[in-house]
Amino acid sequence: MPMTELLVINGTVITQDADRTVLTNSAVAVQDGNISAVGPTADITTNHDAQTIIDADGGVIIPGLINPHTHVSDILLRGSFAENRGLLDWLYNVKRPGTLAMQPEEHATAATLYCIEAILAGVTTFVENDTEVLWDDWTDIEAKLEIYDQSGIRNIYAAGMVDCGADNAFQELVLDIQTRDNDVDHPPLERFVEETDTVLKEVNSLIEAYNGTADGRQSIWPAPVVVETTTNRCFQAAYALAEEHDVMTTVHVAEAEAQEQRSLSSIEYLRNIGYLGDRALLGHCVQIDENDVRIIAMTSTKIAHNYMANMRLATGFAPVAAMLDAGVTVGLGTDNSILNDTVNPISDLRAMTGGHKGYHRDPGVVSTQKAFDMITIDAARAIGRADSLGSLEVGKQADIAIVDFDHPHLTPSPNPVFGLVHAAQGFEVDTVICDGDVVMQDRQIRSFDEPVDSVLSRAERMAADLVDRVGYA
Ligand SMILES: [Zn+2]
Repeated sequence: MPMTELLVINGTVITQDADRTVLTNSAVAVQDGNISAVGPTADITTNHDAQTIIDADGGVIIPGLINPHTHVSDILLRGSFAENRGLLDWLYNVKRPGTLAMQPEEHATAATLYCIEAILAGVTTFVENDTEVLWDDWTDIEAKLEIYDQSGIRNIYAAGMVDCGADNAFQELVLDIQTRDNDVDHPPLERFVEETDTVLKEVNSLIEAYNGTADGRQSIWPAPVVVETTTNRCFQAAYALAEEHDVMTTVHVAEAEAQEQRSLSSIEYLRNIGYLGDRALLGHCVQIDENDVRIIAMTSTKIAHNYMANMRLATGFAPVAAMLDAGVTVGLGTDNSILNDTVNPISDLRAMTGGHKGYHRDPGVVSTQKAFDMITIDAARAIGRADSLGSLEVGKQADIAIVDFDHPHLTPSPNPVFGLVHAAQGFEVDTVICDGDVVMQDRQIRSFDEPVDSVLSRAERMAADLVDRVGYA
């Protein structure tokens, strides 16, 4: 009888394998951080001698959720977002001033708050797009990476790269927009611009120092921030760095039309300079056309759809239905925790799938199963990790969540995937396992020593001070 570290028993296992098999009265066995068996509870318990047994008690056992596009530090700015702001207004009057004013201990507190919320929502992997990086000092970055290590879940730190300034017309537009909030302490527009060679050297060093640390749970990607502030050479070098280190690269593309006006579409431009391919994950792609979708499909480029943020900023509906028809891999990201305003993939599903159906007046687009795929196996594909994450299959890494369906709003639930997409809110996640370790059980976070209450009051205190310091109205 094989000695097994951990068994999760007595649940309905949504495997997310190629056949989307759902197994009732079943169990998952974990050995050395990997899934060693999946099958009926009676068989698994007979054939394995486990050190730890977690009883799902009739709940639903799912792959740990993957959030392919999010931001962390600005979580402390929650609640200071005013109504009626478009993308540039929000970015230059709210987000940039706030994140730039943050001290390392504030970044660390933001990261702790973020991870607690993510774990409570069943997330075991997230891609942080750090878009406000000052490369002369790694203190802020390292403060967050230290917290991610403690969190017990997987993080991908997408290291923001900015190597050219925006053109004069754009700068004038931003200065105009900033007059809306004259009391805010605005950082200079060129604050993040770094020499191409410097930013490439720094990102390469960060990858060498931290990629694969935290027992393999931590990854670093090169991440040009947006098309307008990245040179061709930087894009090409970012893709080459991703190949060299066997990681991916990501960039925000076509989130709003006003930002990207050129004779070529941003997608055509990125293809021409060689940035598209299976190592590229493009965030947003809201303002793109059929030709762009075809190019994305042909190049096997991956997409992070950020539905809630697109709705909040009124940037529009990304052509997700067309992307799916063309066979494009699309993961669902929560994006900024002050544009969503939660870090909760399950709670986004119902809005996302319903939104696309309503927009197209077609109940057939973005099916229930496809929606759930977008936070599990398709999200794993989107981040280049489908060989190890995103489904509950033998040989994959043991990232598992248990969802308690014993709630009125999930009763009856003849199809648990339907329940997860159309009824669950996210708080029903009961237990989270990452890399074979239990990071939350019975909604008690195990990975951080500090009690959740204490983190919340510290975050509240720091956020109030930050809002005061920056001068938000
Ligand atoms: Zn983003």
